[in-house]
This record gives sequence, structure tokens and C-alpha cells, in this order.
Amino acid sequence: MTADHDGGPVADDRTGELSRRLGQVERRIRDACAAAGRDRDEVTLVVVTKTYPASDVERLAGFGVADFGEARHPEAAHKIDECHAAGFSHLSWHFVGAVQTNKAGPVARYADLVHSVDRLRLVAALDGAAGRAERQLDCLVQLDLDGSGSRGGTGQRSGAPAEIASAVIEAVATARSLRLRGVMAVAPMGADPTAAFERLAAVAAEVSAAHPGADCISAGMSDDLEQAVAAGATHLRVGRAVLGERPPLR
Ligand SMILES: *Cc1c(COP(=O)(O)O)cnc(C)c1O
Repeated sequence: MTADHDGGPVADDRTGELSRRLGQVERRIRDACAAAGRDRDEVTLVVVTKTYPASDVERLAGFGVADFGEARHPEAAHKIDECHAAGFSHLSWHFVGAVQTNKAGPVARYADLVHSVDRLRLVAALDGAAGRAERQLDCLVQLDLDGSGSRGGTGQRSGAPAEIASAVIEAVATARSLRLRGVMAVAPMGADPTAAFERLAAVAAEVSAAHPGADCISAGMSDDLEQAVAAGATHLRVGRAVLGERPPLR
């Protein structure tokens, strides 16, 4: 599938590299699903394009990728605008990074699914902004699995610690303009991802039992997607394995 629009992706070296890397990741996901006795279509690959240009999104969209993740505002807003302008308006955008409360407004307008809701003030800010935008915003509650603060790609502390997680989950579930869709976590650095993802799956089971429709589990990145699939992940957030190593973030 290629995009039919002016100035679109061409069959250059970068397109070939992305095709090769995407194929490798797709094989890893298929193998992990087969090993876990799961269907491939139970798992959504979200390609995290932070620090990479809109032209890479367009190349990957040409291979059929429809879900993209961004971690920072305003980088996300600019890239989404660029993709729309280039004719790629059918893509789903996942906001996976820490959301500053004062950026909740724009994020609530352009995100299709926010993976990183981790505190009550952010719930209120996103709910207000989604209401003003007259939309229902899908949200995952990000859990801090190691008690000391899991670290996302931005190096910021993020995730609701156990003692406030249920309050955040209830707040999203009862917010007028938010829809609770499930939970998300980043495996703690240097720890066994399987143990962390199994803790996440246990919380996810409680959440989906209490809130029908909140059955998404966002877990697994470039280095631990197999463990995440084995533990029941429905969304994988993969950056480097598809796009290549990023220069270190600030
Ligand atoms: C950057 C990022 C990812 C992707 O990480 P890779 O190691 O590049 O696969 C996933 N989740 C979050 C929250 C991120 O910030």
C-alpha cells in the first residue's frame, strides 16, 4: 500500500530501513502471540515516533501502520498537523508521555487515546478540556509498578503509585468527558519485566471487572514486547526497534 498524494514517501533508503525494521518487529509480535496462544489481532502496535519526523510517520503509514505514539507537546501537535496536511488524516494518535497539567488542553483535543493519566489534577484538566472540545477522550491510567517511580522515555517520574491508583481510576471512570479504557505501565528499569507486567495484568483484571470496556493493557516497548504479549498486553508502544536509536532526550 502506498499513499497517493503529492510529495509523499518515495522508495528511498529510509523507507527500506523502516520496512525492514517494521518487518522484524511484526515477526517478533507474531511469534510472541503464537507462543502465548493469542491472536495477532488482539494486539495493537503503536509506533512511538517522538523525535522522528512526520515523513517517517508517512512512510510507516504507507506500510499500513495506523497507530502512532507521541510523548511531548508541542512536538506531537506539529507532527499531527503535518500529517493531516499531507493527507494522512486517518491515523490514530496515542499520547504516551507525561502530560503536564497546563498542556492538558491541546492534548485533549488531538489525542485519540491518552496512555499516561496518573493524577487527579490531570483527570480534572483533561475532562474540562475534552468537554470544551465537545468530545469523549479515551484514557488509560498509568500505574507506577515499582513504588519508586517508573521512568518513561523522558526520564520523568510517572505513573500513579498504588495508594492513589484506585482514586485516579474511579475519577476517570466517572468523569463526564473521559472514557476509562484500561491501564498502562512502563516496566521498572533494571527489574524483571515479566513480574511487573504480571502485576499490571492483575490490576487490569480488577479494572475491567469493575468497568466493562476498560480492557486495554498498554505494556511493552522495544526491549520487552515479548514479555508484555505473554502477560496479556493489548497495546505495545514501540519506538527504537522500528525507527532506530534516538539521540538521548534532554
Ligand atoms: C519512548 C517511549 C516508548 C518507546 O520506547 P522504545 O524503547 O523506543 O521502544 C514507549 N513508551 C513511552 C511512555 C515512551 O516514552
